[in-house]
Amino acid sequence: MRITRYAAAVGALGLVLAGCSSEAGQQAEDAAENTAEVAEDVDFEPGTTMAELSEAGAITVGTKYDQPGFGLLNPQTQDPEGFDVEIAKIVAGELGIEADAIEWTETVSANREPFIQNGQVDIVVATYTINDTRKQVVDFAGPYYVAGQDIMVAAGNPEGIQGPEDLVGKTVCSVEGSTPAQNIRDNYAGANLVTYDVYSKCADDLANGNVQAVTTDNVILTGLVAGNPEGFELVGNPFTEEPYGIGLALGDTEFRDFINDVLEDAYEDGRWAEAWDRTAGAITGEEAPEPPAVDRY
Ligand code: GLU
Repeated sequence: MRITRYAAAVGALGLVLAGCSSEAGQQAEDAAENTAEVAEDVDFEPGTTMAELSEAGAITVGTKYDQPGFGLLNPQTQDPEGFDVEIAKIVAGELGIEADAIEWTETVSANREPFIQNGQVDIVVATYTINDTRKQVVDFAGPYYVAGQDIMVAAGNPEGIQGPEDLVGKTVCSVEGSTPAQNIRDNYAGANLVTYDVYSKCADDLANGNVQAVTTDNVILTGLVAGNPEGFELVGNPFTEEPYGIGLALGDTEFRDFINDVLEDAYEDGRWAEAWDRTAGAITGEEAPEPPAVDRY
């Protein structure tokens, strides 16, 4: 299963690169090479998570492995690439941790909270929507981007699906433990929802005609369409707000404040926009938007 998924992901990236201008393709290739700036002479209050991580010189980060533009495993290097990955490198760099000392772990949608709660990861940067349910068990820095739930259909949109109301009576795929799947269950109960652990399996089902639509965040779907532009299209009518946060252990306010400071610095000095341009922006062709204000709740 993993091999199939990696192969699909690589195929997607290859097509993405082939479809890009050579400059954008080069930028996407450079994403693999780039390492964020690493702070020297860092000095943190003893006992804080920042002090522990910087002393260890390592951090464990949960991210996605099958989402082109945000988190996609490069099978050659066995490291993920994408905007989420670059955000994590910026945070690690401010802790004095080199990008190659980051230990990457695949977090699928459903295991993000448990991995944080069990301490299997220090942070999760994985197209992870901040919401009140999740805030009962984990905390979030950010948001560092705001996506919206959208729908992907077969090219030509044979079912004429324009929005979530049109999913009623149709078969739609999403991922277990995700906000889009929950939204369909709560508000569009007439839709026949099929769920997997990862979105690439939904894309396979749409390609095979097993489902009539896939729903999740627009930026995730854009990456999947870029991987199969002949087969898929985006409805392009987002109907929710999905503010992406960096998940961390509940109650670690000092660490959350630190990450929020890092995000604000990266907004101001251009590292955030530059990370966007090399990753998600190289796929969507869209310039970096205005970064959202971090929420110091
Ligand atoms: N942003 C949504 C969520 O956190 C959907 C994307 C995902 O499953 O990663 O549930």
